[in-house]
Amino acid sequence: MFLAHGYAALDPHSPLVPFAFERRDPGPNDVRIEILYTGICHTDLHQTRDHWGGALFPMVPGHEIVGRVVEVGNGVKKFKAGDLAGVGCMVDSCRHCQNCQDDLEQLCVEGATLTYNGRERDSGQPTFGGYSDQIVVDERFVVKISASLDLKAVAPLLCAGITTYSPLRHWQVEPGQKVGVIGLGGLGHMGVKFAKAMGAHVVMITTTPEKGRDATRLGADEVLLSGDAEAMAAHAASFDFLLDTIPVSHDLNPYAALLKRDRTLVLVGALTELSPPLFGANLMMGRKRVSGSAIGGMAETQEMMDFCAEHGIVSDVEMVDIQDVNQAYERLLKNDVRYRFVIDMASLQKDAA
Ligand code: NAP
Ligand code: ZN
Ligand code: ZN
Repeated sequence: MFLAHGYAALDPHSPLVPFAFERRDPGPNDVRIEILYTGICHTDLHQTRDHWGGALFPMVPGHEIVGRVVEVGNGVKKFKAGDLAGVGCMVDSCRHCQNCQDDLEQLCVEGATLTYNGRERDSGQPTFGGYSDQIVVDERFVVKISASLDLKAVAPLLCAGITTYSPLRHWQVEPGQKVGVIGLGGLGHMGVKFAKAMGAHVVMITTTPEKGRDATRLGADEVLLSGDAEAMAAHAASFDFLLDTIPVSHDLNPYAALLKRDRTLVLVGALTELSPPLFGANLMMGRKRVSGSAIGGMAETQEMMDFCAEHGIVSDVEMVDIQDVNQAYERLLKNDVRYRFVIDMASLQKDAA
């Protein structure tokens, strides 16, 4: 065991504070990574405040992690010391169920081991995430990162990136299609970039008129204000695909109305009950579908990283010191982020000084 340093939530109601904790020494298949940057996902806020129940405290959040490999176990094949590496939302899974065999570890029937707020499969010890100086992870759950990309802006790809890339791929978004991305935050801005790179006609669907210009700069061909009933009516039954990143309960009916016949709206944002209820007729009249998607498997996460290197895609980030993480959470709650906060982990040194 060795001592790691980071920031933790000690309960659902208090700000995150400096926290020292033990991590396992690298086993034969593990890499030890010095963490350079970690993105702040809205999920970190949900989890540290126990919005979804069952949270384990103390909790060191963070599942958008990039860093440099500093040590590898003797069975490690993909990495050597000095390599850039990324870790996303999961650090293990059962590896033998059908979903794991199909490279869908995030859907492991035994439940994937989350990077934080989970328990290690062997030891039962809590997992601690990327708001910290180092992490030890089995190489199967670590991805390679191209040195050609801006590293700090790569961190959000590990969650916001793969969570939007995977459904766009699965539902085969392609040139000529009209794709709507709902909610311009961390996930949404990546959704716009990916859908554009895949050749779609991209419509940013937002509650915030001021984000319109940014949406265009990010690659959106059109901006649709969800609060403008007339504009929503003008787009009725015209979309081939909708990606809904709204982080809270909301009314799906106005969005379902936007879909063409036989097309799909995919939920990636709201994990909880949706209210008001969805009207059956709004799906029946057009054979429309509502589905969901969770991050992506490890092979697809690597594919997404390689796609980003090929197309020069990274996240738009605002850098914060770890000491400012609680203010960043408040700004996230107020929808005041353009478009992902990323913690510069070098700032941890300030607490040591
Ligand atoms: P975020 O940066 O806060 O962005 C969410 C966006 O949704 C906001 O920028 C805002 O965009 C819109 N929005 C916020 N509140 C809204 C409301 N009350 N009504 C309508 N729109 C609203 O959050 P994020 O990091 O992208 O995460 C989004 C959600 O995805 C979170 O709940 C997170 O837990 C979840 N998540 C899921 C997965 C998965 O695997 N499925 C992975 C990662 C995250 P506009 O201003 O443009 O309207
Ligand atoms: Zn996330
Ligand atoms: Zn499994």
